[in-house]
Amino acid sequence: MAEFYLGADTGGTGVKYVITDGDGNVVFQGEVPTDPRSGKKTLARLAMEVAEKIAPPTDSDRPVFSNLAAVGMACAGIVDPVSGHLGRSPNLPGWEDTNLKSMLANEFSEKPVVVVNDVNGALYGEYRFGSGRGCEHLVMIALGTGVGGGVLLNGHLLVGSHNGAAEIGHMVLDPSGPICTCGGVGCLEAWAGSVAIVKQARLLARVELKDTALSQLVTEKGEELTTRDLSLLARKGDAASLALFAEVGHRLGYAVGNLVNILDPDKVIIGGGVALAGELILGPCRAMVPQLVLADEAKNVPVVPAELGPLASAVGAACLARESLAIS
Ligand SMILES: [Zn+2]
Repeated sequence: MAEFYLGADTGGTGVKYVITDGDGNVVFQGEVPTDPRSGKKTLARLAMEVAEKIAPPTDSDRPVFSNLAAVGMACAGIVDPVSGHLGRSPNLPGWEDTNLKSMLANEFSEKPVVVVNDVNGALYGEYRFGSGRGCEHLVMIALGTGVGGGVLLNGHLLVGSHNGAAEIGHMVLDPSGPICTCGGVGCLEAWAGSVAIVKQARLLARVELKDTALSQLVTEKGEELTTRDLSLLARKGDAASLALFAEVGHRLGYAVGNLVNILDPDKVIIGGGVALAGELILGPCRAMVPQLVLADEAKNVPVVPAELGPLASAVGAACLARESLAIS
């Protein structure tokens, strides 16, 4: 009988999922809407859709999933991979303080379940199938709405004593810097998350750069302004937009330099939607890193874009589910 593995990635609006075969090849992929108030309802929806794809028909009211070997789920927030407890999770208020493992096991016929923080899931996906292939020590920084992080050492994800490790977005770069969404001041996220970048663009357009291409763009897009709009303007050579991304890269470079001094990884992977700005950010970041790194051999650590895109966390969760069976 075919053995399938489910990998899912729960975000604030949708659960992206992949179903893989035993070698990790994706055979189905899809997305179901998230109910941010109810994990149970969302996972029931997911189970129903997965059943349509792979579960053999039964007489029972509920699918049996006899050909599903294991389930992996990545979730934004503080996830305890051992107990399955989900703590703080700002985009999923109704899921906080619930047990993801037991909810998943309940929906998926008590199959073995693995849970992981979403950026850790993405890092694991990149490690197995993306830009981290062949490495054993990796750092990932995910530049999304906020900034997430992940660390892999000797092929193992670092979670720390309280599942709070690798919150790279809240590394303080300047105690007199901008206010962060976490309530702190001068965190990496306060420069390099998309909310911060768009906020900074609006501020520049209003105060210093009236009647420029940047201010026209800000006015034209209004509330819809995205970092992609800004990166398109920068690619046309607009000096203010280029400087905006260079500042993001520069700050990111400080974070990467600090992390390389602590962890000495084989590679640093930059993912998330903001990273689609590519060299606009990575160029200035790479220029900064060697100035901060102490060990000569580590100065030119590759700082590379992620390869797997939006499915990285789901792919990583499926890999972790598959490998958990091999070691148990
Ligand atoms: Zn912060």
